[in-house]
Amino acid sequence: MKQYFLTDQDLTAFVEGLMSKYPVLAPVAKRSRFVFERLESVDELRLDYDTTILPPKKAFFPAKQDLIHFDQDGFNACIDPKEQVLLGVHPHDIKGIAMSDIFYSDRKVDNNYMANRNATIIIGSSVQNHYKHAFFGSINAERAMTGHDMFMTKIDGGYTVETVSEKGESLIALGSFADATDEQVAQAAAVNKAAMDNCPEKLNGTADEIREKVRSNFDSAVWEECAKDCFSCGSCNIVCCTCYCFDVQDEWNLDGASGKRFRLWDACLTSEFSEVTGPVGAENFREERAERYRHRFMRKAAYLNEQLGGPACTGCGRCSGACTANIANPATVINKIMEL
Ligand code: SF4
Ligand code: SF4
Repeated sequence: MKQYFLTDQDLTAFVEGLMSKYPVLAPVAKRSRFVFERLESVDELRLDYDTTILPPKKAFFPAKQDLIHFDQDGFNACIDPKEQVLLGVHPHDIKGIAMSDIFYSDRKVDNNYMANRNATIIIGSSVQNHYKHAFFGSINAERAMTGHDMFMTKIDGGYTVETVSEKGESLIALGSFADATDEQVAQAAAVNKAAMDNCPEKLNGTADEIREKVRSNFDSAVWEECAKDCFSCGSCNIVCCTCYCFDVQDEWNLDGASGKRFRLWDACLTSEFSEVTGPVGAENFREERAERYRHRFMRKAAYLNEQLGGPACTGCGRCSGACTANIANPATVINKIMEL
């Protein structure tokens, strides 16, 4: 909608303005890494972060979420959205949130997710430091950012601030903004292009080429070879901004009449994920770890393309960093398959 400029000196007052109206979740340091957490003070804010341990989807879809509370009289839904600001989301994570929005609303609306999502104002920010495994410059690079409200790009002396929704525009009243000059807007465009161009890792091939090649190698020995060190821990799923599976469980209170139903993030790399109970006993339809390992890449690179119009991966690199066995990196695995 409009382009503004916020000086470095005025950033603190703006964020304090946000914090006076909303809970603000933003990147903060945690030991040597970063996490999205509620800001207690502006001093904690780290817009220079490289990546966060968990993706920002946890703001709408927490790792554990109550769905209903029940007793002998019936049940109540636990949907109780609170307005909040999610500040400092990198462009590829904004794309990941837009993909999650599709997963949770396209075929069947997930009311728990959407209530939280609709109550959240998203302020994106440019990548100031690359995560060592990032490859977002070569996957979904042409995909436009959607669903955010405001975007801040670090340039000389401050930030260009683009408002992209009415909600975003309404935040301008909370700070001291000037209109951005053409030079500042041009510098911001160059900064964001350089961030795409300078990713440390690169995926080879277009989205269509990757989809074709991964699908046609369904029966390749490459999956067995790549998965031989897999611990089936599911960490690569848990840290992923486009993984959206969950497990639903009931918890009964000691009165035997009341309790709650909740959901937990789930991971298709774990052996339990594909276990089902049938009339003649339990069955696991992806019993072998190589099958589960392959399934993750099929989902990311081939199966979900139709729904999303491209791979279900943003190139954030979190999975590579989370894998103890060092075998989860989509850039490494897909590049290997592209050479087959
Ligand atoms: S598969 Fe890995 S790189 Fe792709 S979005 Fe998920 S965590 Fe990020
Ligand atoms: S690929 Fe790595 S992170 Fe994923 S389940 Fe296997 S060992 Fe765990």
